[in-house]
Amino acid sequence: MATIDQIRLKIQERDYYLSSHAEDEMVDDYLERFNYCYGLRATGGHMICEFCEGDTVQKKVTRQHWLEEKLYIVENVNAEVCSQCGERYFHATTLDAIDRLLKTEHPVKQRIEVEVVSF
Ligand SMILES: [Zn+2]
Repeated sequence: MATIDQIRLKIQERDYYLSSHAEDEMVDDYLERFNYCYGLRATGGHMICEFCEGDTVQKKVTRQHWLEEKLYIVENVNAEVCSQCGERYFHATTLDAIDRLLKTEHPVKQRIEVEVVSF
């Protein structure tokens, strides 16, 4: 199968990772999250970092998650984290699952106030 077809298949099956770096840029640009597909070089969970070529390890992390113009802090999220530069990669299905959780009735552990400032 040609590389482009393999990539298409992975996107259709939502079998890809998204780096947190790529996402930050998307929020800035108001781009749809899944139009980007960084981190396609996944091999059974373990990945090579797109930015420094370091190896990733699976960790539970706390994630800042935007959904419908609201910001959520989500704890205990599975991520592949670069052991060299700390870049975090989230699997598309993990992000989908968080979206689904937040769109339905869910327990709220804590509420915090966030300042928005211009620099
Ligand atoms: Zn890295």
